[in-house]
Amino acid sequence: MRLPLIAGNWKMNTTVPEAIKLVAAMLTELNRIDGVEKVLCPPFVSLVPIKELLQGSSVKLGVQNMYFEDKGAFTGEISPVMLIDLCQYVILGHSERRQYFNETDALINQKVKGAFRFGIVPILCVGEHLEENEADMTKVVVTRQIKLALQGVNPSAQLVVAYEPVWAIGTGKAATAEQASTTISVIRSTIAGVWGKEIAQRVRILYGGSVTQGNIAEFVTDAEIDGALVGSASLKAEEFLSIVKQAALIKARV
Ligand code: PEP
Repeated sequence: MRLPLIAGNWKMNTTVPEAIKLVAAMLTELNRIDGVEKVLCPPFVSLVPIKELLQGSSVKLGVQNMYFEDKGAFTGEISPVMLIDLCQYVILGHSERRQYFNETDALINQKVKGAFRFGIVPILCVGEHLEENEADMTKVVVTRQIKLALQGVNPSAQLVVAYEPVWAIGTGKAATAEQASTTISVIRSTIAGVWGKEIAQRVRILYGGSVTQGNIAEFVTDAEIDGALVGSASLKAEEFLSIVKQAALIKARV
């Protein structure tokens, strides 16, 4: 009932020519895969040429960040108004933004509102640090992050959440599907508490953190996990294709 989604977060990688080459290497095959929503999140500078490449394709575009104001004296920032015609998704609250750019839950909440105001769908990232995990605080952390991010936000089944344990991002040490599934259930109940059960059942919740072609099957076999937010493996055309294909195949049976 929830359309599975695989999103590639390219982070601060690829020049414009490299980004075009990467899309060109995957596009024909990606278009052939049904049953999974496919989203690429390249750096801002490649958005326009990639949007042109994706004309008429089933692949969607996302960005990795965004400011919440519509326009004004916010040097260096990109507003939702500038993005409406360029992308459908925006990754918000990624742990790298929280960690290196001091993004707070309050700022992320403003950004979620800003995205919805203009019809851009947030891929809201939440997840605990290693010490929090070891202190058995995962549930507390993700519950707090979700509640604060959604404070005052109108209910929307469009929202996508990515559960990304910080200790699993870029480390090669993915969570187990069981761990991911347990936390995703907590996230879904939290959303139900804020927005009601009916909407919460329709919100897609992904897993992210060292997903590869070798472990994607494990995650998407679990009915609670609606897909993946993929970092480094999304920069390799063959590997990303394999991840999307496996997700499509497995989700058709789950
Ligand atoms: C990410 O950046 O969201 C991510 C999950 O990265 P990686 O797949 O490289 O761990």
